Amino acid sequence: MRGTRDLLPPETALWNRIEAVARSVFERYNFGEIRTPIFEDTALFARGVGEETDIVSKEMYTWEDRARAQSEKTQMLTLRPENTAGVVRAYIEHKLGESGQLQKLYYIGPQFRRERPQKGRYRQFSQIGAEVIGPPHAGSESPVRDAEVLEMLATLLDELGIGGWTLKINSVGSAQDRPKYIETLKAALAPVVGQMCGDCQRRAETNPLRVLDCKVAEDQPIIDGLPRIADSLDEASKAHFAAVCAALDASGVPYTHDHRLVRGLDYYTRTTFEFTHGGLGAQNALLGGGRYDGLSEAIGGPKAPGIGFAMGEDRLILTLQALEQAKAELAHAYIAPLGEGQNAAALKLARKLRRDGVRVELGDGSFRLKKSFEAADKVARAMVLLGEDEAQSGILTVKVFATGTQTKVAEAELVAFLTGLAG
Ligand code: AMP
Repeated sequence: MRGTRDLLPPETALWNRIEAVARSVFERYNFGEIRTPIFEDTALFARGVGEETDIVSKEMYTWEDRARAQSEKTQMLTLRPENTAGVVRAYIEHKLGESGQLQKLYYIGPQFRRERPQKGRYRQFSQIGAEVIGPPHAGSESPVRDAEVLEMLATLLDELGIGGWTLKINSVGSAQDRPKYIETLKAALAPVVGQMCGDCQRRAETNPLRVLDCKVAEDQPIIDGLPRIADSLDEASKAHFAAVCAALDASGVPYTHDHRLVRGLDYYTRTTFEFTHGGLGAQNALLGGGRYDGLSEAIGGPKAPGIGFAMGEDRLILTLQALEQAKAELAHAYIAPLGEGQNAAALKLARKLRRDGVRVELGDGSFRLKKSFEAADKVARAMVLLGEDEAQSGILTVKVFATGTQTKVAEAELVAFLTGLAG
């Protein structure tokens, strides 16, 4: 069926490994698992996610569930398109706020959206997500919570072996800041929207924030000139965002401030974030999330600010597979002659190694060392430095990229050393 897939061995082993790593990280941060139903009352998503969002307006699988007995009512039900609304519904239903403690909950499971299927985008996909939610006196609004969630995600991606991610963060302000900004944005869009793409013209009417998500190249200069939400934030929201950034700086998690990151769901307030990965192509978002301080009240619950994220498990798998593939294609070694005078010796060494079955890339003595390093890091697992000293002594300097270590290896040992390096 369009947008659905069967997962078969050996790939299912990778799914299980990812889930095991996620569970172990969540446990260390003291999260517990929640499992909510796969379908919910349609009204939950309409009120929680927002009527005008793409998800609710066109992507939900909704049906009328007819009453089977007099005592039952006919209901509109929907396959969950995301899990935050369900978690907050459960928080309200089970009065979890009454404990006075923060609730730290994670989930792993399928979600359903009628999107146009393509690589990395499916109609049934799996999300791994977590929420931190509770009454304000439990500290649920503290910027420390935001920073802690982001730091946990950085740890999770690193432990999964996904290097090279990028974290973008922004603040979309409080429930009071947003309408102010939306008015400013609408006013700024009015004279220019006619020159923008059809989607932007529609969004300018229905959900102007989403204009900032537009990827159409011709629209970019216009969007870059639009007012920024950062300028519409009140002092409290500004201070909150500054505190999140400061905590991230202190914890050493790298990030960039992306003024255009507003995300597609209505419930977000203040901090929003996204982790992306270059290996994913167009659908490059690995995960997204943010604060939803008003969500509980919007669906009939007590005040219960929270922050959470949802990570696309399918996209994690694609990223890991691409990284594995890239590793498998790496040469064993890149020989870097130090100076043009060593080119001949380097060719001789390359010939010897290649005859012994080593996959070798040969550099060029005219390159500066930094350039050789950069070239080698892309194509090989290790770099063999060949200068005058090395040529004379037969003891080579080998830099191993996976570990960042530099070792001296005798020429006679070189084949064994290089072929023994893990991918
Ligand atoms: P969202 O709930 O839209 O914020 O999405 C959170 C994450 O779920 C995204 O960053 C993706 O990694 C993943 N995701 C969302 N929609 C899909 C989809 N249709 N197929 C696969 N992954 C998805």
